[in-house]
Amino acid sequence: MHMHSPAEHKINGAHYDLEMHIVHELVDGPSFETYKEQLAVVGIILKISDESHPFVAKLRSEDFGEIDKINFAEMFDTLNGQGRGFYHYKGSLTTPPCTDIVNWNVYSEVLPITKKDLNSFVNAWHDHNCGHGNFRNC
Ligand SMILES: [Zn+2]
Repeated sequence: MHMHSPAEHKINGAHYDLEMHIVHELVDGPSFETYKEQLAVVGIILKISDESHPFVAKLRSEDFGEIDKINFAEMFDTLNGQGRGFYHYKGSLTTPPCTDIVNWNVYSEVLPITKKDLNSFVNAWHDHNCGHGNFRNC
């Protein structure tokens, strides 16, 4: 999992404050040799608001590096059954070499995040050394 700020995807032309990417990699399977989309990425877009979504509050930035499970059911449970689903398309990595291997699944509902929580995520990822910082020059 990593973050981008501002968000990389736009929804109906609107550009939001943060985008969380949860990356899943196909490492084996019956069609592994021929299946082109080896990654599935779940994108969750957030915008600054007065309160953070309860799911965001569970992702304390100080715990990054320690989290080994994320319960998405908890996130969807908090939407009171109003979840709108995902935008799906086959696309590419958003960083060079931009290989065309990603099944994108971007959650259609923009979730709220406080400025304070946003800053903690931005700070946590700004100096992250895995190559997926929150800022890119390209
Ligand atoms: Zn990303």
